Amino acid sequence: GMKTDHFPSATPNLNDGLIRLSSNENAFGPSAKAVEAMKGELFNLCRYADPTTSVLKKKIAEQEGVSEDQIVVTNGSSPILFGYADWITKNGNKLVTSMATYEGVPRGAEFMGADVTYVPLDANMDFDLDAIEAAVTEETTAVYICNPNNPVGRALDPAKLNAFAKRVSQKTQVFIDEAYIEMSDGYPGNVQSSLAAEGYNVVICRTFSKIHAMAGQRLGYAIMPAAQAKEIGGKLRMGGVNYLGLVAGMASMDDHANLNKMRDMVKVERSKLTAAAEELGRPYAKNPQGNFIYMDTGMPHDQFAEKMRAQGIKVVGRTWPGYDSWSRISVGTPEETDACVKALKTVLA
Ligand code: PLP
Repeated sequence: GMKTDHFPSATPNLNDGLIRLSSNENAFGPSAKAVEAMKGELFNLCRYADPTTSVLKKKIAEQEGVSEDQIVVTNGSSPILFGYADWITKNGNKLVTSMATYEGVPRGAEFMGADVTYVPLDANMDFDLDAIEAAVTEETTAVYICNPNNPVGRALDPAKLNAFAKRVSQKTQVFIDEAYIEMSDGYPGNVQSSLAAEGYNVVICRTFSKIHAMAGQRLGYAIMPAAQAKEIGGKLRMGGVNYLGLVAGMASMDDHANLNKMRDMVKVERSKLTAAAEELGRPYAKNPQGNFIYMDTGMPHDQFAEKMRAQGIKVVGRTWPGYDSWSRISVGTPEETDACVKALKTVLA
């Protein structure tokens, strides 16, 4: 059978044997330096992580030019998205975003009773910044932008997004989820954290789950106005952050050679997927900038996912309203991506 367990697990039965291209994980695995750093600290997992959380905050503050009290650190970035959704419900209860985008903030806010306006993507499948700006009112609590956007993969023009955020943040808070930003062409020229450093009313959210390949270890952070960081971070602090994640995250941040290599490797595998979409004549969101592509398979998603599963490939398990025949497919290792391309050619021929 196909070798799907790239990093063989010492514990049996942890893997269903499918090639996992379903969750935008980074199959290349974490920095060897991060793994070494963790090994050196394994016995210190008896310690609470608070002092080390402060060390990470200091490191992020230096890198991003913000103050430490603007930073919230959590177990993956998902708790921040949840905490932010909760914050929305207590501060006017109105969110503007697009469909399709990552559900964390909008769905979280909806579950908690917020009023969410979904502005359609534009003709390029980008966040329609002009339409979003037009949809913002005096009552709007926040705008959620995901850049690059999950599930679409498109990245916004950095100057255009920057100007948008500067204008719109005069009226409402602009949340920019940069989960995949380090994978995008032009990084770091397209990060928007300078807005936070310059005092604009923005939140910049990042994760170690994607380019740092630490999805299972859980580490993420956000930069926001200090008072808000105190409020949101104070609530999320229950449960805290894990020690080994901090150790690995900081080592990975310092391993610039690895991060550059990751960006290149993601790009190579991603281009195999877009080439397959081209060859099969399937519409897809052009020039994707994360570790995934978004394509119209031409059949109901359940049917496509089932057919891919029969070929040993797990694709995303959900659809986004209005995109019922579209599927998000993550990049894998070279072997995994090749197997996926082969499966796509079988399933969509
Ligand atoms: N934001 C975006 C855009 C994502 O795609 C994801 C995960 O896929 C997350 C946030 C949350 O990931 P994590 O909690 O692992 O940081």
